[in-house]
Amino acid sequence: SIVVTGATGHLGRLIVESLLRRGVPAGEIVALGRDAGKLADLAGRGVVTRRADYTDPASLRAAFAGAEKLMFVSGSEVGQRETQHRNVVAAAREAGVGLVVYTSIANADRSSMLLAGEHLATEREIAAAGLPYVILRNGWYLENYTDQLPTYLQYGVTGAAGDGRVSAATRADFAEAAAAALTGAAETNRAYELGGEAFTLTELAEELSRQTGRSVGYTDLPTEKYAEVLGGAGVPAGFAAILADSDRGLSQGELYVEGDDLAKLIGRRPTTLAEALRAAL
Ligand code: NDP
Repeated sequence: SIVVTGATGHLGRLIVESLLRRGVPAGEIVALGRDAGKLADLAGRGVVTRRADYTDPASLRAAFAGAEKLMFVSGSEVGQRETQHRNVVAAAREAGVGLVVYTSIANADRSSMLLAGEHLATEREIAAAGLPYVILRNGWYLENYTDQLPTYLQYGVTGAAGDGRVSAATRADFAEAAAAALTGAAETNRAYELGGEAFTLTELAEELSRQTGRSVGYTDLPTEKYAEVLGGAGVPAGFAAILADSDRGLSQGELYVEGDDLAKLIGRRPTTLAEALRAAL
């Protein structure tokens, strides 16, 4: 079977859908989440569902029993993931899975972003476990931007990304790449840097202006100032600092992805910013 963690989340859910579209029988897919109730509709379609918590090794061991392949979607509890992910890798080793596909971050081995440390530690843990693996170093989600359109249209685009270029792609495209890797399209024991067509936040504002006919600008702020603005808009302080730090990394090119591995894995050009904006507007 193919076990998918984080299936209660956006990406994991899309990966399960992509596996089904690729003809993997529902009964050979095991979807995991902390609240199996959120997976009831998948269960109704024949997907096996189990509860698993990255902080609960016994739950992981039970959930991974019989797994041939593990889709390991990185957790969302920033700061706790190194320990959590170590539990996941240990359980995968015990289960003797034949392939671990892990969702890392772009340029994990050279990124200075606060978010990158836990991913790099996890990559190393996976390699050290001696299991065949594919590391998918996912770039930024286009949804990180398209989810903010009302704010952009009211206040303009604000960030701390300078003239940095971000190779963002939709979650759906990253999910297609993951499903491709799980069904044999990727080489094992290597990392793929995944991203779509790159743009600056100035270009994001320009494209938004073009599509709406309104004048949307980009305001670039120092990192700390941007964190304050996010805090003022209701983002919890710790997370605001992480988001602002990610823009700092973006300004230094750390969310720019070379090459076209995403297109190669999904067999087509990834969805572009312009297309994603058009769909979201
Ligand atoms: P979501 O927040 O939608 O989903 C996160 C998933 O991780 C959920 O299924 C959640 O389960 C699960 N999870 C979190 N903590 C645990 C835990 N302790 N034990 C078991 N499961 C856990 O994120 P996305 O699907 O959008 O993105 C997937 C991952 O990609 C994120 O978790 C994060 O690591 C990373 N990410 C990447 C971004 C990018 O731009 N590339 C942006 C944001 C995140 P539950 O439903 O129980 O909470």
